[in-house]
Amino acid sequence: MRRVSIFGATGSIGQNTLDLIRRAPDDYDVVALTGASNVAQLARDAIALRADIAITADETRLDDLRAALIGSGVEAAAGSRAIVEAASRPADWIMSAIVGAAGLAPGMAALAQGCTLALANKESLVCAGALLIQTGREHGATILPVDSEHSAVFQALVGEQMDAVERIIITASGGAFRDWPLEELPQATLAQASNHPNWDMGQRITIDSASMFNKAMEVIETREFFNVSPRQIEVLIHPQSMIHALVGFNDGALMAHVGPPDMRHAIGYALHHPHRQKLPVERLDLAAIGRFDFRAPDDVRWPALRIAREVMARRGLAGAVFNAAKETALDGFIAGAIGFTRMSDIVAETLDAMDAQAGHIDATMTLDNVLNIDHLARKAAQAAILKRAG
Ligand code: NAD
Ligand code: MG
Repeated sequence: MRRVSIFGATGSIGQNTLDLIRRAPDDYDVVALTGASNVAQLARDAIALRADIAITADETRLDDLRAALIGSGVEAAAGSRAIVEAASRPADWIMSAIVGAAGLAPGMAALAQGCTLALANKESLVCAGALLIQTGREHGATILPVDSEHSAVFQALVGEQMDAVERIIITASGGAFRDWPLEELPQATLAQASNHPNWDMGQRITIDSASMFNKAMEVIETREFFNVSPRQIEVLIHPQSMIHALVGFNDGALMAHVGPPDMRHAIGYALHHPHRQKLPVERLDLAAIGRFDFRAPDDVRWPALRIAREVMARRGLAGAVFNAAKETALDGFIAGAIGFTRMSDIVAETLDAMDAQAGHIDATMTLDNVLNIDHLARKAAQAAILKRAG
């Protein structure tokens, strides 16, 4: 029996992970499940999977969680500190699927116990990739990518030499506004941005797909995961979302990973690694699909891609500033405080403002410094939002 914990169990990735675990309940001993506001779901899953502990990030929901778990034998806890503590509970495999920078500290704690960390939480790599990878190395932990593109690259690299890799191409569907007239983008509504053409995901990543901030984060994630230089990383628009990534080698070969847009593939690959096991995903009928389309990304439509290049050139803690500003701008868009196209302005302004404050972006990458700059960048981004609203 493998001991597993799922952080962000109530979300889209978390639920897909539980779906795979439920299909082979005798193979897994569930240690911890975490969620936030949805304590009813969290309690239901914790009871069904006989978890040791269920933790909600929202301390005001602890009584509700306790009430829902009464008589089940599942322990209840609340708050971000309890979540980090749960990441230290011995487990063999831990899914990191909290959304946002809130996933960083639990991810670090999980790595410090030397487990296998299935990493969906790309924000932690964008904020502190070098720190995560170094922590994993120090403690003999394994980090496996769960983002579909990075899982695809990882699979294309099995048995290959990194020095034969010329380039890594990650694909993007183009999101909700791929074919919209540019002049209509400032008026895009929350409902329109929350509707992905191919993938069924959490609301935040779905909006990030429309703005291409998701792909911008994934470019940085590619650099951190595979230790390649920014100029080796390309983004390709591929509306069908069936080729997830391609790796180009020095002999001209391109190894593509093709599969249905179903996260249970990447999650299952990380769950069973280094073996492959049967997974409940659709088998593609390529003759019926008929064609795959590609086009170059457009920096005018999606300024996020250009900003990601700037962030990689700035190095240091610029990734943490970028992520915090992006999360704050996204909150602003969701709350109706700023329009869709303002999000990238807010992120660019925040990066400039933080760059002008000597010492912040150049500080050493420690967890404390990353959390500190995350806090400062959120304040700066909030100020930029208020300035625009005023
Ligand atoms: P989601 O919004 O569906 O779920 C997020 C989870 O995080 C929920 O369990 C929620 O309760 C929890 N959470 C939210 N705020 C929290 C906080 N402050 N502290 C602790 N827990 C908190 O998100 P998702 O779509 O499942 O995405 C999760 C992560 O996986 C993100 O980093 C996302 O970028 C990445 N990812 C998702 C997909 C996908 O298909 N959904 C694909 C690739 C990568
Ligand atoms: Mg992805």
